[in-house]
Amino acid sequence: MALPNYIDLAIVGAGVQALTLTTHLLQKRAKYDHKFLVFDPSQTWLSQWQQQFAAQQIPSLRSPAVHHPDPNPHQLRTFAEHRHNELFPPYDK
Ligand SMILES: Cc1cc2nc3c(=O)[nH]c(=O)nc-3n(C[C@H](O)[C@H](O)[C@H](O)COP(=O)(O)OP(=O)(O)OC[C@H]3O[C@@H](n4cnc5c(N)ncnc54)[C@H](O)[C@@H]3O)c2cc1C
Repeated sequence: MALPNYIDLAIVGAGVQALTLTTHLLQKRAKYDHKFLVFDPSQTWLSQWQQQFAAQQIPSLRSPAVHHPDPNPHQLRTFAEHRHNELFPPYDK
């Protein structure tokens, strides 16, 4: 990917914290879209998280209902409300 000559904001690392920050920025100001770049050697989101959970053989969080990257802790519940065939408990603990 060719890098632009100038960016407003560089986010180093594409982990949980960076994903939350990115979500927060885009929810606050849609105009931030295309104003920043996220740098990570894996070139994808949550690679370290995925590797660490795989190493510990943890398939899912036990209490994920409010522990997710969206700044709004209730957002996953709202998202899951009408998706009974895709998302089911234990997301709701
Ligand atoms: C087994 C396990 C269970 C956990 N359970 C929970 C839980 O239930 N609840 C909870 O809140 N927390 C839990 N944690 C902790 C949680 O995973 C971390 O607090 C969280 O991932 C930290 O987020 P982060 O974005 O700071 O770092 P990370 O998720 O580690 O992401 C850092 C990113 O930065 C990148 N990076 C590193 N160096 C550079 C560099 N020089 N340049 C560019 N990119 C770089 C890495 O590739 C990585 O993608 C758990 C952790 C483990 C291992």
